[in-house]
Amino acid sequence: MKFQVFVITIWVFSLSFASVSARFLPNNITGIPPWILHNATKTAAWEAFTRFAGCRPGERRDGLSKLKQYFSYFGYILNSPSNFTEDFDDELEKALRTYQQNFNLNVTGELDDPTLEHIVRPRCGNADIINGTTSMNSGRSSSFHTTEHFHTTAHYSFFPGAPRWPSNQRDLTYGFLPANELTDEVKAIFTSAFQKWSAVIPLTFTQTDSYFLADIRIGFYGGDHGDGEPFDGILGTLAHAFSPTSGRLHLDGEENWIVSGDVTTASLPSAVDLESVAVHEIGHLLGLGHSSVEDAVMYPSISSRTKKVELANDDIEGVQLLYGNNPDFNGTTTNSGSRERDTSGGVPSYLGSRWGLGVVFAVGFGSFFL
Ligand SMILES: [Zn+2]
Ligand SMILES: [Zn+2]
Repeated sequence: MKFQVFVITIWVFSLSFASVSARFLPNNITGIPPWILHNATKTAAWEAFTRFAGCRPGERRDGLSKLKQYFSYFGYILNSPSNFTEDFDDELEKALRTYQQNFNLNVTGELDDPTLEHIVRPRCGNADIINGTTSMNSGRSSSFHTTEHFHTTAHYSFFPGAPRWPSNQRDLTYGFLPANELTDEVKAIFTSAFQKWSAVIPLTFTQTDSYFLADIRIGFYGGDHGDGEPFDGILGTLAHAFSPTSGRLHLDGEENWIVSGDVTTASLPSAVDLESVAVHEIGHLLGLGHSSVEDAVMYPSISSRTKKVELANDDIEGVQLLYGNNPDFNGTTTNSGSRERDTSGGVPSYLGSRWGLGVVFAVGFGSFFL
């Protein structure tokens, strides 16, 4: 009987793997470092939006529907993306105004250069506005935007309903998708990222090998991986994570992740610092939404070749509102000026090409267990 169950399990898994790998096989070739392929043949899809510079309300341009899809994806347009037109209509203008407010840009409702420069930045795949409600700048009352208070008011946000891990779950475990076959060096980056948060709140995070029993499950995936939030390859969306108590943290396996060395001196323009993104996504796992404070780790975007791993006061205030203070936390933060800081020095090293296979396996798992 046990044998039958085992055989069925293998069969089901094989079926899943075969169908998924046929649909989602990444285009990078095992044995060739993916960053070389990316560098040679790909540019981030959002770069195409720069051609809309100066486009005004009322104009019609091919591709504006794609820009509306972008705004829809991040919560700025509520209508269904299926029938977006190529017109610069009121809906797009309204989305632009809200976006500009959230990112502290001049609220022009136009596709000016500073706005486009922000739009094309790599960023977190989580929406800024969830179900039409936002706690970033645009969701706050106008009294928050007086010049007097603008820089002193907290801008952190929570998911709708402010979900958090319950009080009987203060010691959380995290595991890594086995198929990714991550090295200890990569796992240590997440350990460090978790410590940024456990330093300020009374929660602990412990690595476990029991991935499927872990409170927090971390995996790198390629493209569509079964949760309705497909990754898009190089840059664009980098990662996403779910609100408590889901515990799912997904990263785009096709990024050129920097795992050691000084990311700011990386030769590759699309190099992304893994720890910076991990710290941000763990914030989501704990219940934080996006912040309009550019120095906060919960700011939605991060430029490539940038390191930002130290919590800002805005991040700390937000997460402590959910969980209280860590008694050992002395109330100071080293966030200021840390965005370009590198802690290890030396030549940056990339996550290797063995990922090509890892991602394929990951997708197989993903469709099953997400
Ligand atoms: Zn995010
Ligand atoms: Zn996902």
